[in-house]
Amino acid sequence: MKDTVKVPEISVVDKVELPAGETAVVVVDMQNDFVKPQGKLFVPTAPATIEPIKRLLDKARASGVRVFYTKDTHYEGDPEFEIWGEHARYGTWGWEIVEELKPIEGRDIVIHKTRYDGFYGTMLDDLLRVYGIRNLVVVGTVANICVLHTAGSAALRWYKVYVPMDGVSALNDFDYHAALRQINFLYRGVIVKSVDGISFTT
Ligand code: ZN
Repeated sequence: MKDTVKVPEISVVDKVELPAGETAVVVVDMQNDFVKPQGKLFVPTAPATIEPIKRLLDKARASGVRVFYTKDTHYEGDPEFEIWGEHARYGTWGWEIVEELKPIEGRDIVIHKTRYDGFYGTMLDDLLRVYGIRNLVVVGTVANICVLHTAGSAALRWYKVYVPMDGVSALNDFDYHAALRQINFLYRGVIVKSVDGISFTT
């Protein structure tokens, strides 16, 4: 028997305006292993998010918005390999952020993380506080894994979270919608229809 699951209502907004100085974009795990077909944990819908994320980054940088990247980072014998197989191993091609979204050295901040949550054991929260950031636009992959945990962890610290629907990707539709539902319903995050609906005010 195949169950049909109905996606609960998610409120989606078309437009948000965010103050540039109090907002950061967080690009989660857009690394070759997840985004490229030759990668070790390829997410089929991830390549389609590259262009929208690029547009968001161009807009953010033009307004002086801070940009953070998380980079899933594992070393030999990491217990996570028992769950997912080897991936995002430090120093490998798969660990690198995709060329199209390359961070700007000396401007953007790259956070190495060992777990799903970008805040767990990292400098992310400290840096966001130092810079007076209150709003986070979270994009990347995998929607229900590292994006959800990072967005949730941000919300638990009372950052306001914004997630554009064309900026996140998951292994399947269920996971994608489940992630958006949790971010919206549980963490009171704002789901924005597209990156094009996000603007930064200076
Ligand atoms: Zn991992």
